[in-house]
Amino acid sequence: MTEATGKINLLGLTQAEMEQFFDSIGEKRFRAGQIMKWIHHFGIDDFDAMSNVSKVLREKLKTCAEIRAPEVVSEDISTDGTRKWVVRVASGSCVETVYIPQGSRGTLCVSSQAGCALDCSFCSTGKQGFNSDLSAAEVIGQVWIANKSFGSVPAKIDRAITNVVMMGMGEPLLNFDNVVAAMKIMMDDLGYGISKRKVTLSTSGVVPMIDKLGEVIDVSLALSLHAPNDALRNQLVPINKKYPLEMLLAACKRYISGLGEKRVLTIEYTLLKDVNDKPEHAEEMIALLKEVPCKINLIPFNPFPHSGYERPSNNAIRRFQDLLHKAGHSVTVRTTRGEDIDAACGQLVGQVMDRTRRSERYIAVRQLSDEANTQRSADQKT
Ligand code: SAH
Ligand code: SF4
Repeated sequence: MTEATGKINLLGLTQAEMEQFFDSIGEKRFRAGQIMKWIHHFGIDDFDAMSNVSKVLREKLKTCAEIRAPEVVSEDISTDGTRKWVVRVASGSCVETVYIPQGSRGTLCVSSQAGCALDCSFCSTGKQGFNSDLSAAEVIGQVWIANKSFGSVPAKIDRAITNVVMMGMGEPLLNFDNVVAAMKIMMDDLGYGISKRKVTLSTSGVVPMIDKLGEVIDVSLALSLHAPNDALRNQLVPINKKYPLEMLLAACKRYISGLGEKRVLTIEYTLLKDVNDKPEHAEEMIALLKEVPCKINLIPFNPFPHSGYERPSNNAIRRFQDLLHKAGHSVTVRTTRGEDIDAACGQLVGQVMDRTRRSERYIAVRQLSDEANTQRSADQKT
């Protein structure tokens, strides 16, 4: 909560934490609601603009607290209305936030970490390695920045952001406390008032944390499945070696049934040409998901340089979708949005200062493959 300035950053405090903060400085708890509304409903980060707070309290707050969102490095708007912000976090790395308008819906895709340690083979964030967890203020700060940029304050009246998905950079369950705090603020009426069904956490499958999540919050859950068997999933999503499919699906079922109402798991499946897009994969998936209340979202692979993967043809995508559909599943294919501003899933490339040195290895592999290609084309010419 406390960052370089030594002041407490009120942006990332949940209602309970804000009340504790006011207690700790000898002020009444109801101040928590007043200040949260200024911050989240009105997008205010200057205590002097808080007209229902006395001058004495404002001066006191200035000495021990601040409201500090991450720095916006750039904002791009795509021809299809998608927006992308690059923001710099305290570690010095940059992460991305993407807004996708769709009819009356507006979905904000939020990052949870700078880089990612999990190294899924088809994900450009994974290729950058890991740098840092985002603080709660840096996670909710992305919502604050986006909301403010629409001028749609108070947030609850003219709502541009109707849904939030934790599907930006990073594995949200590996930054558990900060992500949970930020999601509480998203759902709080004093925050952004978004319903629990419309806040979705996406995970590649950190099993113990799925159970822990169920103990503290009731947001929607999305599972990045990507393969219908352990052998293939071990290659694509390496954390599967630690938490294999049987264990993972059991944890997801526990989470969904713990919500105690008619809610379903979202299954995300990135389609990779000739890797996981064949009819036999669809058949295996149907068997695997037989007992899992879910809807399926197919994501055609979004290419990035030297990934080694390709997007399947439209025919292959349709064939895969049809097979699942015929088995009774609700299946959507995610359309790629914001391609002209590199805002599509898996294309988010911040400027991460890699602590895992994975990006160095990746660059070395890229250089080798470039050299091999150059050699090959030279050979072809001779
Ligand atoms: N770490 C979390 C959330 C972020 S990734 C997770 O893995 O679930 C959001 C989604 O985009 C995941 O399903 C991820 O597997 C998918 N994705 C990653 N790279 C992709 C790419 N190049 N093309 C399409 N989808 C990709
Ligand atoms: Fe990390 Fe998710 Fe990318 Fe895997 S897909 S490397 S878990 S961000």
